[in-house]
Amino acid sequence: MSMVTISTALTDAARRLDAGGIENSRGEARLLLSHVLGFGAEKVIGHPEFEIDDAGMIELESALSRRVRREPMSHVLGKREFWSLNFRVTPDTLDPRPDSETLVEAVLKHVVDRGRRLRVLDLGTGTGCLLLAILSEFPNASGVGMDISQAALDVAKENSETLGLDKRAEFLRAEWDTGLAGEFDIVVSNPPYIPTRELNLLEPEVALFEPRLALDGGIDGLAEYRALGPVLVRRLRSQGIALIELGAGQSGPVGQIMTRVGLDILDQRHDLGGVARCLVLRHAPALTNC
Ligand code: GLN
Repeated sequence: MSMVTISTALTDAARRLDAGGIENSRGEARLLLSHVLGFGAEKVIGHPEFEIDDAGMIELESALSRRVRREPMSHVLGKREFWSLNFRVTPDTLDPRPDSETLVEAVLKHVVDRGRRLRVLDLGTGTGCLLLAILSEFPNASGVGMDISQAALDVAKENSETLGLDKRAEFLRAEWDTGLAGEFDIVVSNPPYIPTRELNLLEPEVALFEPRLALDGGIDGLAEYRALGPVLVRRLRSQGIALIELGAGQSGPVGQIMTRVGLDILDQRHDLGGVARCLVLRHAPALTNC
């Protein structure tokens, strides 16, 4: 039986990924190989002569064929890093994206005291990435993640346990805040914001494999912001802040929706690509004073 070395497997995997239209084919080939072999990246790079056994080759084949069909890397690996934490990801949850880290950064900028006993609410929590990343930065904070999908909530709960944050996070199934009591210091949300007609134009990883429920923002992409506005008003403490994610070009229209329901725009934060990705909102002073 001839054994395949890491070096040969890498070259072949990269070629197949490349042919499948995947951009970072060499990098992804390395990731898949280290996943299949259970090796760190250094070992994959540092030991090109290592021979992969049959079981490894079978697993690699299965991972490669899934990825070539454009299944997201996070689904093939079953996980994704967000805010330097590992999150389990399934087809029921939106893949945590670096863009959303803009919201976590914005929380850190606006809430300087890390020791505060904050109450945090995440509306449409998915994997729980926003809530859990925030709780990881504020040791005395606790919070609630809400989602309409029970399957997503099961993943979020599991993530909270793996990250050791389950004592401070609870997860509830509801359409937005139905059945929820209380007000919060921080409310975060990454709502669905893609206009329905654009869903099928997204890259195959998103269009074919990510949950529509987490993407579809209705006819103009703004439907869920219209629903969310009054929820933010109800759930925010008088001194609290809401941080919501935006799609590209949505800052103006979403700002108007939020102003109309009685919120003030405190700040707008850009992601690494320069897109206005996050609005920071609070109650308009006129409302809190009366
Ligand atoms: N950022 C996702 C995308 O562009 C969309 C996420 C969302 O609708 N909230 O694919």
